[in-house]
Amino acid sequence: MLIARTVAELRQHLAPFSKPAFVPTMGNLHEGHLSLLRHAKPMGDVLVSSIFVNRLQFLPHEDFDSYPRTFADDCNRLQGVGCDVLFAPTEVELYPQPQTFKVLPDPALANILEGEFRPGFFTGVCTVVMKLFSCVFAGGAGVAVFGQKDYQQQLILREMVRQFAMPLQILTLPTTRTPEGLALSSRNMYLSAPERAQALQLPAALNGLAKAVRLGLRQGAFTDGDVAALENAAMQDLRAKGWLPDYLTVRRQSDLSPIAAQTDAPLVVLGAAKLGRTRLIDNLEI
Ligand code: AMP
Repeated sequence: MLIARTVAELRQHLAPFSKPAFVPTMGNLHEGHLSLLRHAKPMGDVLVSSIFVNRLQFLPHEDFDSYPRTFADDCNRLQGVGCDVLFAPTEVELYPQPQTFKVLPDPALANILEGEFRPGFFTGVCTVVMKLFSCVFAGGAGVAVFGQKDYQQQLILREMVRQFAMPLQILTLPTTRTPEGLALSSRNMYLSAPERAQALQLPAALNGLAKAVRLGLRQGAFTDGDVAALENAAMQDLRAKGWLPDYLTVRRQSDLSPIAAQTDAPLVVLGAAKLGRTRLIDNLEI
């Protein structure tokens, strides 16, 4: 595997290829990342990943400094799944001067859910992904692969690629979980052993909410108020178990808008909640 530390090195390594398959990450790679890489491998003529902890998408009180950085292990894992080129720039390389030009995503998509609780988050994400895309896909077409784990993120990035007519295909792949059902996440390593067991309550809450909404929709006579009541009850239940939920909600898959009481649109249940000092997110399509 070639490791590029600069944009120039990356472009040099990628020059012989015409269709990169790209998996951007913040490192601390786990089986979820590796599943994206394995799937991406046959989709291009060169498999590229990036490791960059992007300061722009962290609020001052968030975990930028403590975010796990495990570069040597990550390189071994990348090599194991056949990654050809790793782009691992320093902050000074990717942001040689303050990044004053930014990508502003549609507030209707980016200021809700994660964006409500992490203001500016999706501007940071879109800006770095646009920049990474322009480094990796300098030659034109390619495929970029993202995880469903970050549901709102993949939706916003798809829309960015569409609205800017970027010649890329975006692929979203299912969330990899532990056998018990916990979504793999770099932030799981902040959890203590008892918290790790307790963390299963988040996917369980999403499942419960999904079932209740499905049942309500099937039975008819379901009002908008009923949906809100089910969401509130699910949040209350998590609170009673010691969590601090930011949101637990049922939305349309297409644009994350709230659902009407009678709908046959594809839906997704999304949740974010803090357990101790760890903020976890998860979602489930229904
Ligand atoms: P991150 O390193 O957390 O920024 O994630 C990099 C990519 O891996 C993103 O597209 C994530 O959605 C994806 N990802 C993170 N966790 C998982 C998981 N458990 N299953 C599948 N994809 C994941």
